[in-house]
Amino acid sequence: MKQTEILHVHTLILGGGLTGLSVAYHLEQLGHTDYLLVEKNSFFGGLSASETKGDFTFDFSGHLLHLHHPYAISLVRRLLKGNLIRHKRQAFIDFQGQRVPFPFQANLWALPKKIRTQCLAGVQQAACVRSKKPKNLEEWFLQAFGKGIYQYFLKPYNTKLWQTKPKQMTWDWCDTFVPTPNLKQITNGAKKKSAALGYNAYFYYPRRGGCAALAEALSKHVPNTWLNASVQKIDLKKHIALINGKTVYFEKLINTLPLPHFVKTCENVPDAVYRAARQLKHTTVHVWQMAVNRKVPTFHWIYFPQPEIPFFRVGMQSAFSPNLAPKGTTSFYIESTQKITDLKQAEKAFRKALLQKGIIEKQDKIICSFWRTLSPAYAVYNFKRSTAKRHILQWLKRYNCFCAGRYGLWEYSFMERSLLQGQNLAKQILGKHS
Ligand SMILES: Cc1cc2nc3c(=O)[nH]c(=O)nc-3n(C[C@H](O)[C@H](O)[C@H](O)COP(=O)(O)OP(=O)(O)OC[C@H]3O[C@@H](n4cnc5c(N)ncnc54)[C@H](O)[C@@H]3O)c2cc1C
Repeated sequence: MKQTEILHVHTLILGGGLTGLSVAYHLEQLGHTDYLLVEKNSFFGGLSASETKGDFTFDFSGHLLHLHHPYAISLVRRLLKGNLIRHKRQAFIDFQGQRVPFPFQANLWALPKKIRTQCLAGVQQAACVRSKKPKNLEEWFLQAFGKGIYQYFLKPYNTKLWQTKPKQMTWDWCDTFVPTPNLKQITNGAKKKSAALGYNAYFYYPRRGGCAALAEALSKHVPNTWLNASVQKIDLKKHIALINGKTVYFEKLINTLPLPHFVKTCENVPDAVYRAARQLKHTTVHVWQMAVNRKVPTFHWIYFPQPEIPFFRVGMQSAFSPNLAPKGTTSFYIESTQKITDLKQAEKAFRKALLQKGIIEKQDKIICSFWRTLSPAYAVYNFKRSTAKRHILQWLKRYNCFCAGRYGLWEYSFMERSLLQGQNLAKQILGKHS
């Protein structure tokens, strides 16, 4: 981009992750080229980028394409031109030394008999009393799955992931993200392995280039971009953004930056909006990205609900494509929401737990290792989130500012939604919404 002191654009897009790229891509497709996408990094993709370290390619933690919407599937196919593999999920829950296939609630057959019986009794009981609208996530879990499944898996795992008790959370994200087999399916799953359930039962992944291949392909269709450009201040009333010390005038503003951070960059924000932004909480995920000099038997990811295990999930990056790691090696992403201040200590604790859980062996040599911190990672669904978010978004809309994406909308979301939200927003801005 040619840098002059003052710029004028119709649509200013903040953030070059998948959401921002998708807005720009669809504006281009609709013939609207008067936009500018600004991204503070030197690369596109945001969280869906990948990084190469020596012979290894790692995503920013595992990033798998969960595609269901026909348009999203066709768009990704078109962009990646055959550079795509489809996988059947191989995911488990580590439970009392067993690997229980995911989802836990549909695979009770893999549990010790006594626990299986307790879980089944709990589901049957819940099915008899399910009636009122759940007040919180704990009630939702108990109504959907009963006491046993909740106590043994859902409670410890969700408490660990969200760093918040299910009693203190809402359940409005569950419809999409929690597989909800009915009583018959749960009962059948207590006898034999269930059919693949849930939004991630099958997933796609680029054959080459890691997850970043998608953002890179999108960016090739989006010429009006400014990398290494950080948004410093925004005056919504005057329709001005200060970016790398330059003034940019805009008519419409698209924000994909984390909502609380974005509010802080705005000037003359009413107190009530600031207060609302402060109510939006998030978790931070620390990811140890690591590889060993042995081909470990394949899995895609394993959940660890135990509070004494320092990570909540271990994913095998090299299982998504043979092009991510050299033959005879295995690469992992190991995720934790616990507070980590000393990386050396954390590495020791993680290694010990990986050995204990049989994921790596004593003689395995770690041949690649680095840390990444994702913050914000998950928007926490506390009771104040929805009202606070609505308040902020309504205020922003008054100034022709629209938010999108997992962080712009402060929601539990995934890449397919980024693509679709980008498409919708582009149409909305151009008044072409059906
Ligand atoms: C641990 C984890 C695992 C996940 N796994 C999956 C998965 O397997 N599958 C899946 O579909 N989804 C997954 N997701 C969700 C997925 O990452 C997001 O839904 C998606 O990438 C969001 O894209 P986005 O463009 O909205 O946001 P982002 O990718 O965060 O993009 C926002 C962009 O804004 C830029 N930016 C920030 N501040 C400024 C500033 N001041 N000036 C300019 N630019 C700025 C950032 O650098 C970034 O590039 C996962 C998320 C996490 C945290």
